Amino acid sequence: MTIETTDSSDSAPLSEREALTFNTDTDICVIGGGLAGLTMALESAKKGASVVVLEGRRVGWNASGHNMGSVMPGYGVPVDDLIERVGFDDTRELWALAQEGADYMRRKAGEIGNVDLTDGALEVSTVDAGDKLIHRLQLLGSDFGTDLEGWQVERVREVLKTRRYFHGIHYPKAFQLDGAKYVHGLARLAEAAGVRIFENTPAVSMDPNGIRKRIVTPSARLRASHIVLAGNIHIGAPAMRLAGTLLPVWRYAGITEPLGERLAEVIAFQGSVADADGIDHFRIVNGDRLMWSNPETTWNARPQKFARAIERRIRTIFPGLGDVAVESMWSGAFGRTVHGMPQIGRLRPGLWVVSGFGRQGLNTSAMGGDLISRSILWGDDRWKLFAPFELVWAGGTGGRVVGQVMGTLSRGASAATGTLARWREQLQKREQAREKSREARAASAKARSVQAMQAARARRAQTEARQRNRGGGDAA
Ligand SMILES: Cc1cc2nc3c(=O)[nH]c(=O)nc-3n(C[C@H](O)[C@H](O)[C@H](O)COP(=O)(O)OP(=O)(O)OC[C@H]3O[C@@H](n4cnc5c(N)ncnc54)[C@H](O)[C@@H]3O)c2cc1C
Repeated sequence: MTIETTDSSDSAPLSEREALTFNTDTDICVIGGGLAGLTMALESAKKGASVVVLEGRRVGWNASGHNMGSVMPGYGVPVDDLIERVGFDDTRELWALAQEGADYMRRKAGEIGNVDLTDGALEVSTVDAGDKLIHRLQLLGSDFGTDLEGWQVERVREVLKTRRYFHGIHYPKAFQLDGAKYVHGLARLAEAAGVRIFENTPAVSMDPNGIRKRIVTPSARLRASHIVLAGNIHIGAPAMRLAGTLLPVWRYAGITEPLGERLAEVIAFQGSVADADGIDHFRIVNGDRLMWSNPETTWNARPQKFARAIERRIRTIFPGLGDVAVESMWSGAFGRTVHGMPQIGRLRPGLWVVSGFGRQGLNTSAMGGDLISRSILWGDDRWKLFAPFELVWAGGTGGRVVGQVMGTLSRGASAATGTLARWREQLQKREQAREKSREARAASAKARSVQAMQAARARRAQTEARQRNRGGGDAA
């Protein structure tokens, strides 16, 4: 695991690649050198297209190189919401696509090598909601073919020593990797396949009309048959209206100092753990350090500001760990759409979008990049499954304020529900203890009365025996 020491904007390695300084022609111009853009570029070059990637800063400087590295099934939207919106069959197809994204990443991780891959992920509930769990297990496991198992509270607490978590869903085939190593490895694979990547080359405007589209950068112009917008929240001037459909969210993460053996005593699960409310997400890295992400803002703040908050959060969830110091912090920004689903598809002939991956953007950006490449070059039209998730304006600056307030409120609501669940559990335990002691008292009272009855019976028998003896003597 690479340990970054500062925030995403200046922690990525310095530019490795040249900026574009000459005019050029290509089949496909991809705007954005993150996971989505690079996957798209690699897969298109492998199919024989000529591809140029324009990256405004450096490959992987944002979320794609600064994430938690957990590759999960599905999307960042509850599956019931998807079914409600597009129906059962389309949801199942969407789910299968998301799984293709995860499988793709596992294959590429194998090709790249040395990305610190570990298996298994656990989604834990902060409330005692076993009935909901059974519903999800049935839906995802039986109906959608996802590999998973339900864990009872006791099993969760065997591996996570905290009272904060109740039931869990274990995904044995989910995995995690070092996001920075993966994205840089992906860029190298793309170059090896013939993709030309230019860094420090923002696309500043474009004209998507006509057969040959035009893209303008500070020092050069390009012509391309297809433009793919993979710029996430930083897309800016070339697609202002698209940018307006994303609520930018900065998420902050940190890595603790080495925690030694006490970590294994408290956390015995080697995969990643996330709560079902999307608040805390953590995993063990480098043997005895904890990587933890939690805070989110809708503005860009210095990551170091949140180190104490993460330390407090770790103490709250795992008091058994004692004091823990966060050694390094980083952040990344993702774009959240109003409906929570990614933006994947064709905006007009030759203009494509693959963006808006939100908090769950590893399997989904891989899937999106691969799918758009198949669409352009092989006519795969499964991108139409995303058509019901239209481009909806996210509300601009006002939307950010609302987003922050809603985020804080829903986190507060989840925390309150969690507190309530733990309180209920405490009450239940106290009631069980009281019941047990009532039963014990009743049992011992019963035992005492049995003893007393037996003693009385014995006394009575003795008296009768004595009387009989005395009566016999008189007769004699
Ligand atoms: C702290 C954190 C933890 C996360 N953890 C996980 C996780 O464990 N699992 C998971 O599934 N997801 C996770 N995510 C989400 C995931 O990282 C993102 O959804 C995903 O990386 C988005 O990839 P992208 O390619 O769309 O965007 P980006 O990584 O933002 O890449 C877009 C690129 O486009 C470039 N660009 C933009 N506009 C232009 C332009 N006009 N010209 C040229 N270049 C341009 C940008 O400079 C940028 O490099 C996490 C995110 C964060 C921040």
